[in-house]
Amino acid sequence: MTGEMYIAEATDERIRERGEHGGVVTALLKFALESGMVDAVLAVKKRNGNRYDGVPSLITEPEEVLECAGVLHCAPVNVARCVKEYLDGAKGVRLAVVCKPCDARAMIELAKREQINLANVIMIGVNCTGTLAPSVARKMLVEEFGVDPEDVVREDIDDGKLIITLGDGSTREKDLKELEERGYGRRENCRRCEVSVPRMADLACGKWGVPEGRRATFVEVCSERGGELLKKAAEAGVIRVEAPSKEAIDERERKEREALERSKEWQERYFGELKEMSSEERRRYWFDYFDRCIKCFGCRDACPICYCKECYLEAWRGFIRGGEVPPERAFPLIRLAHVADSCVNCGQCQDACPAEIPLSRLYQAVNKELQRVFKYVPGMSVEERPPLTVITEEELRNDDPLLFLR
Ligand code: SF4
Ligand code: SF4
Ligand code: SF4
Repeated sequence: MTGEMYIAEATDERIRERGEHGGVVTALLKFALESGMVDAVLAVKKRNGNRYDGVPSLITEPEEVLECAGVLHCAPVNVARCVKEYLDGAKGVRLAVVCKPCDARAMIELAKREQINLANVIMIGVNCTGTLAPSVARKMLVEEFGVDPEDVVREDIDDGKLIITLGDGSTREKDLKELEERGYGRRENCRRCEVSVPRMADLACGKWGVPEGRRATFVEVCSERGGELLKKAAEAGVIRVEAPSKEAIDERERKEREALERSKEWQERYFGELKEMSSEERRRYWFDYFDRCIKCFGCRDACPICYCKECYLEAWRGFIRGGEVPPERAFPLIRLAHVADSCVNCGQCQDACPAEIPLSRLYQAVNKELQRVFKYVPGMSVEERPPLTVITEEELRNDDPLLFLR
């Protein structure tokens, strides 16, 4: 039933060994395939054993699921875009998809636009407090941790620390905030991310609340379909489940609360600086960034929310002149107008931008304002429609043209 919580672990020793926290996600994916609940699994695999290069992989052989066991913090893959772009929005295939909160939220926004058929998707959500850009991570490991990135076999983020495990089993840890102050650590959007437990998915799986020293996963059931998968897997004996103690539930809540507090601090840092500026300073701040744009379309092509077949940014549409670099400032502003209400702060646009424009900062700043006005948080529920498609009477009466500029 939705809202039920469990401490779970895989029963297969091989999966328990390979999985991050008792192998529950791997066991569920394998079971979903074997039992015929889905036709395929979409999960992230290391490319040629390289943990800094994650590849979204479509898997139909149950044994192959084991190759995706474990977490790759330094490979922030664009899962929602992959489902929409390369799997035809799951319109003809039933999928189990492993997703971070931002992936699940993007899939929900795409489902509202009929780009993904969520009836065919079981979203196995994994808690997330941040991912790292691969190039930044490698540099950080050398310069801050003094280790060879190829020696790292595991990363973890916990209680404000980044902890790495080396091949010889030893661990090293550093304060995440201090690393981030020096330009390392998590991607900028992840620092500001407010959603660490993916309750918008079918299951929310993570380590928070698991008793110290135990290799198991705390699972929250977030939909009937998620509950069905968990129940069937437990009945088939591929996972063991037990009720969590009150202390375990409290501990999970505490960790979630603290992650949110940390994200608010970063938001205050990034957005506070912008709010301090006059309108003119703010305009100049963004326009200076826009003038770096080389019109590569990387941000548009990476954004999971961008879905128009005939994009307004193409020169032949007449809004933006062809052959001009930087493009007119309308270029980023048009994209902003198109996605700001539904931006899920996944940071894919910023990762793709060769001009290093802090695009997710802009989109999230505007999205936060829209959230305040429209009381709409993108990607939380398929039932809630995007505000720019639903105009209320109150909004029609609002004649303040500076609404979003104050
Ligand atoms: S934006 Fe949030 S959910 Fe997505 S990778 Fe970053 S921390 Fe995780
Ligand atoms: S605008 Fe950027 S941060 Fe927002 S959803 Fe699109 S890619 Fe993600
Ligand atoms: S990714 Fe950056 S440089 Fe490329 S079009 Fe977008 S804003 Fe411009």
